[in-house]
Amino acid sequence: MTYANTELFIDNQWRQAQGGKSLPVVNPATGAEIGRVAHAAIADLDAALIAAQKGFITWRAMPAIERCKIMRQAAVLMRERAESIAMLMTMEQGKPLAEAKVECMSAADIIEYFAEEGRRIYGRIVAPRALNVQQQVLKEPVGVVAAFTPWNFPINQVVRKMSAALATGCSIIVKAPEETPASPAALIRAFVDAGVPAGVVGLVYGNPAEISSYLIAHPIVRKITFTGSTAVGKQLAAMAGQYMKRATMELGGHAPVIVAEDADVALAVKASAGAKFRNAGQVCIAPTRFLVHNSVKAEFTAQMLAFTQKIKVGDGMTAGTTMGPLANSRRLDAMKQVTEKTLASGAKMQTGGERIGSAGNFFAPTVFTDVPLDADLFNNEPFGPLVGIRGFDTIEEAIAESNRLPYGLSSYAFTKSLKTAHAISHGIEAGMVWINQPAAPVPEMPFGGVKDSGYGSEGGMEALEAYLNTKTVSTVMV
Ligand code: NAD
Repeated sequence: MTYANTELFIDNQWRQAQGGKSLPVVNPATGAEIGRVAHAAIADLDAALIAAQKGFITWRAMPAIERCKIMRQAAVLMRERAESIAMLMTMEQGKPLAEAKVECMSAADIIEYFAEEGRRIYGRIVAPRALNVQQQVLKEPVGVVAAFTPWNFPINQVVRKMSAALATGCSIIVKAPEETPASPAALIRAFVDAGVPAGVVGLVYGNPAEISSYLIAHPIVRKITFTGSTAVGKQLAAMAGQYMKRATMELGGHAPVIVAEDADVALAVKASAGAKFRNAGQVCIAPTRFLVHNSVKAEFTAQMLAFTQKIKVGDGMTAGTTMGPLANSRRLDAMKQVTEKTLASGAKMQTGGERIGSAGNFFAPTVFTDVPLDADLFNNEPFGPLVGIRGFDTIEEAIAESNRLPYGLSSYAFTKSLKTAHAISHGIEAGMVWINQPAAPVPEMPFGGVKDSGYGSEGGMEALEAYLNTKTVSTVMV
């Protein structure tokens, strides 16, 4: 499998950036440069904006059923091409091939869900106060969307935004991640090959801050959607506010896992450790604070350690690898720092805590126990393969700890008691609660956070609503 350079996609054409600037793409398993990605100039952004404006006019005029057919064909192409796209993703992002393939296949499911739901966007008729009046509520696409997506799920992060936008009749300019550009480009290609008209989708890469500040301020853009860190999300949300743009923010998390006294401990370990080490922990909904009832803490810890010892860390392209490298060297430095700070605060490291080898960004699956509440690991999103375990005595105490941080994205609980499950699901301040299972973010369920984890949803009908304006039409029949 060869890894080709990635170009911009503007006005139905794959093209180099004006001025010819490009950036290197590095394989995180080897540290070697494997290709280049075009770096957009402002003139490219202007061209993308004009194309998106034209694309919006064409696309919103197309009947929803026709848009649905094109989108469904994109899903077919994604399934057909999943094998080869997954290889590109593993080469540029590092995750094991099997995980990359699941991401490609689930992209097809996401496209189909939104394609179908796009046919069921209804307004309503509201009872008037006089017989000669008709009151209608219309739902209309917001217009041109600018999407900013990160490198951890190079396809998933784009496809949720793009599918919801396209299903409602919006056009979209995607600023995809420079570090993992080829797989999102392959997703865009599937839509183009499926017959999406010119200008409906655009794809750019470059300087993220330059592109976001230019696009958010631009009058053609009517909505923005961002996935990434809370710090950057707050900057972009402030800018969106300044220019009165609709915004969806899917930001950082710090998911608690409550393992109750009556939990099935083996299930709790299998489900939560699986969710923790997937994509080497670089997942916004990854479990991080493991709050385990003191009566089952020793058993849980022993099983968690046994789980980590079976993880095969290696190049995602190698058969049998279950955890790849971290996606970039910044994550390696971050893991080193979190580990040092967490140890300094008094936590006990049971396994891991160090880089593996000297080439590639490999970091050992790491487990801390007796983690103090002020430890770095229990306060800042680690975004890596680090587990922190801490005991508790009452469910109220565990819920209070879960809600202590400003984050509120995902959360997990393991219990056989309906009463405990009810108390947790109602008491926890998070956008998602997974009980007795790993996260299963299916497209038909809302996906999003509260508090510093952002606002808006990337799943369910709520995701479509985010791309729709509501218009009141009141007509007096004369
Ligand atoms: P970062 O905060 O610099 O960047 C995060 C993402 O935002 C990247 O994709 C980046 O290209 C983009 N970005 C940064 N500045 C931007 C700007 N001004 N305008 C538009 N996009 C911008 O950090 P990073 O080193 O790439 O990632 C580290 C942290 O980011 C992690 O610790 C994690 O908290 C967060 N992150 C979250 C997700 C998620 O799924 N929510 C994904 C990736 C990274």
